Amino acid sequence: MAQRYFCPDCKGNRTRFALIYQLSQEIRKDPGTGEVLYRADEWEALSDGNGRPHVDVKCLSCGYTAYENVFIKAAKNLDDGFG
Ligand SMILES: [Zn+2]
Repeated sequence: MAQRYFCPDCKGNRTRFALIYQLSQEIRKDPGTGEVLYRADEWEALSDGNGRPHVDVKCLSCGYTAYENVFIKAAKNLDDGFG
């Protein structure tokens, strides 16, 4: 089901956002020199612990960035508060 977003910071943007996925890449370093000895070929999307990818949302109007739920909750509060 589609989720609406609303920026709680500038309180004006409901349409222009960027999704930010956090990726992890395993590396191994030399403890003495700090040199990277090994880099995994694959990047792995970090999950939020419930099997879903962790997604941050950035407001392209004011630049505010937060966890996706913050924007979803703000959209819901809009319904409750202002009708
Ligand atoms: Zn904003």
